[in-house]
Amino acid sequence: MIYDIAINNCLCFVDDSFINANVGIEGNKIKYVGKQNVKGDIEFNEKAVLIPALFNAHTHVAMSLFRGYAEDMPLMKWLKDKIWKVEKKLKPKDIYWGTMLGITEMIKSGIGSFSDLYIYMDEVAKAVGESGIRAVLCYGMADRGEEERAKKELEIGEEFVRKWNNEFNGRVKAIFGPHAPYTCSPEFLKKVRERAKEVKSIVHIHVSETQWEVEEIKKRYGDTPVNMLERIGFLDSDTVIAHAVWLSDEEIKVLKKRNVSVVHCPVSNLKLSSGIARVRDMIKSGINVALGTDGAASNNSYNLFQEMKFTSLLQKIKYMRADAIKSIDVLKMAVKNGYKAYGINGGEIKPEKLADIAIIDVKVANFYPLYSIENSLVYSAYGSEVTHLIIDGKVVMEEREILTFDEEKVFDKVEKIKEKFI
Ligand SMILES: [Zn+2]
Repeated sequence: MIYDIAINNCLCFVDDSFINANVGIEGNKIKYVGKQNVKGDIEFNEKAVLIPALFNAHTHVAMSLFRGYAEDMPLMKWLKDKIWKVEKKLKPKDIYWGTMLGITEMIKSGIGSFSDLYIYMDEVAKAVGESGIRAVLCYGMADRGEEERAKKELEIGEEFVRKWNNEFNGRVKAIFGPHAPYTCSPEFLKKVRERAKEVKSIVHIHVSETQWEVEEIKKRYGDTPVNMLERIGFLDSDTVIAHAVWLSDEEIKVLKKRNVSVVHCPVSNLKLSSGIARVRDMIKSGINVALGTDGAASNNSYNLFQEMKFTSLLQKIKYMRADAIKSIDVLKMAVKNGYKAYGINGGEIKPEKLADIAIIDVKVANFYPLYSIENSLVYSAYGSEVTHLIIDGKVVMEEREILTFDEEKVFDKVEKIKEKFI
C-alpha cells in the first residue's frame, strides 16, 4: 500500500500519551497508525514528534492589523476609544490581508484550525480557501436592542452560513456568532438559537469576559450572563462560549449540565485585565475547555504554545497550588478540545480522523534533555519547533516554508494598509 503521505519513526500523541508509531495518510484522512513501516508518495522520516495540528478556538484573526495599535487599556475603554473607531475604516480587502497575516503566523506555530468571529467574513473565508488552513467561521452579529438592526444582522449571519458552510472540501464550517449578551438582546439571542437549531448549526459567543459584563447583565435582566442564557434556552451542546472568566459554582454546573464548550483565552484575559478563568474547576467538573488566542489586538500573538504555558502558570496562581492543572490536560486543550467543541472529526492521531498534523523537531536546545514530551511542549516550546504542518491531508508548511501562498506579499500588503490607521 502506497499512501499519499507516509511518516515514519515518530513519537505520536495517541490516546493521551506518546508512543513510537508510523502514520499513513490517504486523501484528507489518517488511514494507518502503527508499528509497520509505511510507504508514500510523500515520505517523512523525521525522528520527530507528531501531534494533531493545534486548534485556535477563539479569535478575530484580521485584528492582526491592530497588533500593537492600542496598548495598556481595559476592555471597554479599549473597544470604545480605539478599536471600534479604527474598525470603521476597514474595507473588505483589508480583512482579507489581515486574515492572511494571522494565518501565516498560525501556520508557522502549528495551528491547523481556527474559529473566527468578525466582520466581512466572506474575505476571511476566501483567505481560508487560499491558504489551506481549516476554520470555523461566523459573522459577529450584534443587534444592540434595535429591532431593524436585529433583522439585518441575522440576515447577514444566515447568508454567510448558506454561502460558505462546507466549502473547500469541508475546510470551512460556517456557524452563527452573536457577539455577546451585552451587545445582543435576549430576544435576538433566542431568535439566533432557533435558527441555529433549524439548520443544525453551532453558536459561538463571548460570555462573562469581564466583571463589568456580569454587573451590566445583572442590572439589565436581574441575572448573570450564564443564568440569563440558560433562562432563555440558549445553552446546549452546540454552544461554544469564549472566555467564561467570571463564573459561580452554580454557573459551572449549568454549563456542564448543558454540555456547553468553553474557550479559555488566558493571554487576552490578562492583557485586558479581565481576570483568570476557573479552568481547573471547569475541567474537574467535566466541561470541554479549548484554548484560544482572541484577536491579536489583545494578545498580541497567534501562538497556542504561549497560551498553553500561560494556562498552566495562571491556574497555579489562581488556586495557589502547583498541581492545579496537569500539562497533559493543557496539551489536550490545544490539540483536541477545539475539534470536539466545534464537532470536527479531528484532534486525534487515529485512523479515520482528519489528517491535521504538526511535525515537531525536538532536536533543539530547549527540548534537551527530553524527559517528558508533554512537559516540554507545554513549558518550553516556542512554536518555531514545528517544521511541517499537514492540514486536510495536504502539506501546507514544509521545513518552515509555507507552500500555499507567498508570505512576503502578505507582509507588503499589510504595511500599506497600516498607513490609513496612523
Ligand atoms: Zn473575542
